[in-house]
Amino acid sequence: MGVKGWAILKFLMFQSLFVSQSQEDFDFFYLVVQWPGAYCDTKRSCCYPTSGKPEADFGIHGLWPNYKDGSWPSNCDPDSQFGRSQIEDLLSRMKKNWPTLSCPSNEGFNFWEHEWEKHGTCSESVMDQHEYFENALKLKDKANLLQILTNSGINPDDEFYDLNKITNAIKDGIGFTPGLECNKDPERNAQLYQIYICVDTSGTEFIECPVLPRGRCPSKLQFAKF
Ligand code: 5GP
Ligand code: 5GP
Repeated sequence: MGVKGWAILKFLMFQSLFVSQSQEDFDFFYLVVQWPGAYCDTKRSCCYPTSGKPEADFGIHGLWPNYKDGSWPSNCDPDSQFGRSQIEDLLSRMKKNWPTLSCPSNEGFNFWEHEWEKHGTCSESVMDQHEYFENALKLKDKANLLQILTNSGINPDDEFYDLNKITNAIKDGIGFTPGLECNKDPERNAQLYQIYICVDTSGTEFIECPVLPRGRCPSKLQFAKF
């Protein structure tokens, strides 16, 4: 190979290095689940999806690509529109595990479309639309958060529980420390609203959080009935 050939080869090798390094343009995911009792028990209230009242379980809010410094990318690809047909085989699991609670009442496609466009499009280097939703569903099943909490005597019964007790129960259950987020009921009581669990860039394994979300939870919080 002549000098020119080497130069071209070097250029190509350099380029492929660059491409492989920029494959994952985020550092980890948050799997975020919401407690329907807390979403509904606010001044804003809620609407059940057209299929009826969801079961009393955590529902997925989203799978959110994030950076280690706490910031995050959003709306990464306006050309990648949400396609209902791409998740047809997941629909019954989506309705059960990712129900929408916003008003007016609807099937859930608006919520899923929003999550895909805002967050999912930022992990397209790793997974396509079908994989994005399927990974979130699998992760939610794997975490089994309500079971973990009730096994530790933490029940959605409007009682107040120690923030540390909830955090430790989940840490013992899944092996990693979760982030907790609270919101306020109309009487201004803090209640458990969302749980954040960190996931590796493949979207399949739980990891220790590089950074925890700021969750605004006091040391005692209510676990609302639903
Ligand atoms: P809020 O202001 O209600 O906490 O968040 C509004 C929206 O911003 C969320 O629904 C989500 O789309 C986005 N968001 C809030 N916090 C985070 C975060 O820590 N990471 C990511 N990736 N998105 C977030
Ligand atoms: P994020 O907060 O992820 O940016 O966006 C949440 C958006 O999805 C809001 O526009 C909200 O109205 C809509 N949405 C639809 N259903 C739900 C739901 O069940 N929970 C939450 N948190 N947002 C929902």
